[in-house]
Amino acid sequence: MYFYLVNLQHKLFQTQITDKMAKTPHLLLIYTGGTIGMVKDFKTGVLKPFNFDKLIKHIPEINHLDCTVDSFSFDTPIDSSDMNQEEWILLVEIIEKNYDKYDGFVVLHGSDTMSYTASAISFMLENLGKPVIFTGSQLPIGDLRTDAKENLITSIEIASTQKNEKPLITEVCLYFEYKLYRANRTTKINAEHFEAFTSPNYPPLAVSGVHLKFNYHLFFKKENAAPLKVRKNLENNIVILKIFPGITKEIVQNILRIQDLKGVVLETYGSGNAPTKKWFVNLLKDAVKKGVYIVNVTQCVAGSVIMGQYETSVELEKIGIISGNDITTESALAKLMYLLGENIPKNEFKKVFESQLRGEMSELT
Ligand code: ASP
Repeated sequence: MYFYLVNLQHKLFQTQITDKMAKTPHLLLIYTGGTIGMVKDFKTGVLKPFNFDKLIKHIPEINHLDCTVDSFSFDTPIDSSDMNQEEWILLVEIIEKNYDKYDGFVVLHGSDTMSYTASAISFMLENLGKPVIFTGSQLPIGDLRTDAKENLITSIEIASTQKNEKPLITEVCLYFEYKLYRANRTTKINAEHFEAFTSPNYPPLAVSGVHLKFNYHLFFKKENAAPLKVRKNLENNIVILKIFPGITKEIVQNILRIQDLKGVVLETYGSGNAPTKKWFVNLLKDAVKKGVYIVNVTQCVAGSVIMGQYETSVELEKIGIISGNDITTESALAKLMYLLGENIPKNEFKKVFESQLRGEMSELT
């Protein structure tokens, strides 16, 4: 795959008053692909990414916003199903390179894997002091009934909102259909409705109606003014294992035998419950002993893992399975990739994973 990045440097808004210019928020819009910029192939009817140049022509409204916007596009925009660690790294590198030049970033991304990418980016950008807002749409921007315009315009407005000349939001967010969410709390729940995302265990950071209402008390609090640290070592020899009634020993055994397997996101039932069969517990126990980190997350859309609440999770707790608490699967996967790349000592890994790093899960009580 080839992903040359071309800085298109479209000046969408030219500020005339120099005095005001110093204070006018300056944003970078990064286009990676997704439905928002797709067109229909007339012959096949299939949606394909198209040129970013054309995309921005559909939104002259941006010129009326009180900010300046430059843009940067993946040379080959992609459907988010093709997003991998390689592209996540490209994305953080664009942000890193332009971090001092801009007051905020808006990332246009396909909705299918947006929660995965945005969760990963939240871990990769430590001590973030500026907004990074992910958005996209269910219908292409050229479509008459498109949801793209509102999503994009409000995302830009949010990213340019300042307080005392400083960005109001200092975390990675996802804006879709009138709601601003903490990105690493989101999950895609609908392939049909404009309301495609939800944040089951954390309320929206803002709601857009007649007014843009921010829930300030829910913002991620940066503890210090430390400079941005960009983390790019991601371990991807990990697996998501969703248990189901009837899962066989052979399946679990073969998955846990994968060569050099480093971690497992184990999707369990309810509040973290799993089969109590000896073979199942023993296989997990051996994997943990071998040094594989296993994180327990719930298959439920909302709620959290409470190991030890039922008999069916007591053994998991005893053998050293990590609690994912109320984290989403997308975020657990990203956190595992990130922490495995950080060479954390074995005896500290569980504690670090179970701590809140970017607001991705509630603190364990
Ligand atoms: N398949 C598209 C993507 O994720 C869907 C979208 O953009 O909503 O890239």
